[in-house]
Amino acid sequence: MDFALLKDNNIVKTLAKAFEQGTSVNSYVLQCEKQLADNLLTWVADVVLCKNNGCNGCLTCRKVFSGNHLDVFRLPNKNKEKNTDKMEIADVRFLLEEEEKRPVEGDKKVFLINACNSLKGVAVANWQNALLKTLEEPHKNVYIFIAVENAQGLLPTILSRCQVLTSEKSKASDVVDYLAKLGCAKKLCQVATLLCDGSLPKAEEVVSDVTYLGALEEIIQALKTTTSTKNALPFVALLNNQKDNVDKYWEILTAVLMQTVDYRLNEDKFVLDEWKEEIEAICANYSIPAVLAVVELVEQAKKDIDSAVNFSVVIDNFVADVLEVKFRCQI
Ligand SMILES: [Zn+2]
Repeated sequence: MDFALLKDNNIVKTLAKAFEQGTSVNSYVLQCEKQLADNLLTWVADVVLCKNNGCNGCLTCRKVFSGNHLDVFRLPNKNKEKNTDKMEIADVRFLLEEEEKRPVEGDKKVFLINACNSLKGVAVANWQNALLKTLEEPHKNVYIFIAVENAQGLLPTILSRCQVLTSEKSKASDVVDYLAKLGCAKKLCQVATLLCDGSLPKAEEVVSDVTYLGALEEIIQALKTTTSTKNALPFVALLNNQKDNVDKYWEILTAVLMQTVDYRLNEDKFVLDEWKEEIEAICANYSIPAVLAVVELVEQAKKDIDSAVNFSVVIDNFVADVLEVKFRCQI
């Protein structure tokens, strides 16, 4: 993940403004994707400590970015003799002791808690309860940031004492620009933009896994060429061969179908430019009501597989139902 890119993250911008205008509070919950948490926390610490709100050029910035700033503390504390990335009471005790001491380099201290892996398990309430008092009566120049994927996983008592900021999704055009900078080929770039739903880590996952592009081509081909039960066998075979991988195929199938709707109604959301002709052919096969009905059939098929209905029976029924819907909802 490109570290510099996070300077434009809405959380970083919001905090830079708050610290500049003197409207900041002492405790924040940052809701973001797990893959972004560590880097986002680094930026946030920099915004607090750098005299220019994160200029990326001064000595403070260099120290924060290289992990050498003496007033920045990361938790859970990995230096301890333990083998877990989860928050423990010992981590909170460390924080409580450390916040009593004066800052070394400037006038503020920053505690960065990556709690993405700390919201499950039996002891999940313990570290949070240990934190409550300091969140309630914060030290003047001590700032605490707690990064989580889903803020609802935190205790309500923690949430009510913090300001919650949520990282926004990236726009499709930003994802395309980002992937182009990584040197991605056009087709791969479009598949990743389609499937990532504004998540740059997910976009990176798609471009690093070559099977996504192949699967997309297969699905497009199947939707284009399967016109009746007479020629449905390749579609059935395609899905039947993906027993261990079927979620990926469902995901792509739904995304491609929804692209045919965007192509017709919402062109600024259409990203599969490289497959325009194929998408047009699929549009000719499936009316918009048919597309929406097939998307529902996908959800039903997923549920059936989860409830242990025989896999190939689910696939057979799915393809038969798709063709039925296609016929029923003709343009
Ligand atoms: Zn700076």
